[in-house]
Amino acid sequence: MGKIIVKKNLPEIKYDASIEDSKHISLSKKYDLFINGKNLKTKKYFKTINPATEEMLSEVAYADNKDVNKAVTSAKNAFNKHWKKTKPSDRGKYLFRIARIIQEKAREFSVIESMNGGKPIRESKSIDIPLAISHFFYYAGWADKLNYIKTNSKPEPLGVAGQIIPWNFPLLMAAWKIAPALACGNTVVIKSAETTPLTLYKLAEIIQEAEIPDGVVNIISGDGKTGSYLVDNSEVNKIAFTGSTEVGKHIMKSTAGSGKKLTLELGGKAANIIFEDAPVDAAIEGIINGIYFNQGHVCCAGSRLLVQENIADLVIKKLKSRMNYLRVGNPLDKNTDIGAINSKNQLKRITELVKSGVSEGAEIFQPQCTLPAKGFWFKPTFFSNVSQAHRIANEEIFGPVLSILTFRTPKEAIEKANNTFYGLSAGIWTSKGSKVFEVLKQIKAGVVWANTFNKFNPASPFGGFKESGFGREGGVHGLLPYLKD
Ligand code: NAD
Ligand code: MN
Repeated sequence: MGKIIVKKNLPEIKYDASIEDSKHISLSKKYDLFINGKNLKTKKYFKTINPATEEMLSEVAYADNKDVNKAVTSAKNAFNKHWKKTKPSDRGKYLFRIARIIQEKAREFSVIESMNGGKPIRESKSIDIPLAISHFFYYAGWADKLNYIKTNSKPEPLGVAGQIIPWNFPLLMAAWKIAPALACGNTVVIKSAETTPLTLYKLAEIIQEAEIPDGVVNIISGDGKTGSYLVDNSEVNKIAFTGSTEVGKHIMKSTAGSGKKLTLELGGKAANIIFEDAPVDAAIEGIINGIYFNQGHVCCAGSRLLVQENIADLVIKKLKSRMNYLRVGNPLDKNTDIGAINSKNQLKRITELVKSGVSEGAEIFQPQCTLPAKGFWFKPTFFSNVSQAHRIANEEIFGPVLSILTFRTPKEAIEKANNTFYGLSAGIWTSKGSKVFEVLKQIKAGVVWANTFNKFNPASPFGGFKESGFGREGGVHGLLPYLKD
């Protein structure tokens, strides 16, 4: 291996801010529930803020049990009266319309997603919104081809799908859930997460503009209670949930024996494995993307770095130097790499876990950077000298915090990678194709990336093993949970 050269004094790079224009967006002061194609007022409203500034953006409706019942009844009626009888090719047509209208408004969606969620505009513009659109396009194509999924079976929809999504990729998670449900002929009640309701209410406007029959898509907002009303409603035929393992387990218990079909997409603690023969500079970019993308609020984040021992010093040196160039700050600045933490609560959880890492004896690194005074922020962080027993090696932090462990042999790497309750994703970095296949066969994870990380495509199924949940979203597999067996 050649001589390692790491610059000690980094040249300072000055940027002028390049703030994405937010004048073109239109946000209402107040959002009602979207039920049966209309805006429905409710008793209670709650504030939704911009986590980068703590400023209020809008007030949104809080759906209580009565409201949830109305939404489900609306979905049930729409299923029986319209959607069940709608020609498959027409269902496809409606989905194409949704895709095209979001495409026309992609900039507005990107800005709102960044304002409400804290994510860098670069990411919402190039990942969240385009991927959401491509999911609608992809499943639009499937609507009239369901007969080709399986031989000797007549595809039949389930009825009403209750869908509950998290705050890390709001519009994208909604697309993952709504598109296959509608393509298969189901109707939908979807609940946004506490902190990020806005792009779903913008989607409600598009549902109207696309002239989707009333009640086929119902959009509500609220908290965990609202979610549990949806889960417990006896007219709901299927629950699709993405969120924490804790809530997932709870939902599994409360749906047991109810006949509801269930898919759970829960947490992760993915291993990103760097072998000694890896292209190191590419791997550094993969590590950065794996853990700092979307502030680490990513279920499939590469949050455990497993590095082969003989290159660990080199990788850590290069990683430190790369991290000094990460820009943390205003999500609407096009230069920003790391935006705001989504909520005060999440910041508290990250801070607590990082403290445990320090007190349990791991070595912390954070680059020099100044954080804005207002809003919720956390510096990109990594821990070296992490042992398998540390909390930060086991618990999902869901923030920009990486835990680095080392290994000596591929066998040890595989053992460590699988030594987790989770099984959502993993990454392998090596220059040998044979090693990729040998290792990935033995890793218990739904997605394994080789020499890349966090790549998504609507044709490719996504989902977990073990406590990361079950069922798949995306691809042909993503249709099956919305059809009768
Ligand atoms: P959460 O699981 O509490 O919330 C996710 C969604 O479920 C939200 O819409 C919420 O309102 C709803 N919900 C909460 N309790 C419910 C219940 N009893 N019945 C039905 N729905 C319910 O997640 P959180 O509190 O926002 O985050 C906590 C942790 O969860 C994070 O730190 C992270 O580790 C994990 N998480 C994972 C993902 C993921 O994509 N897998 C997403 C968000 C959070
Ligand atoms: Mn919670």
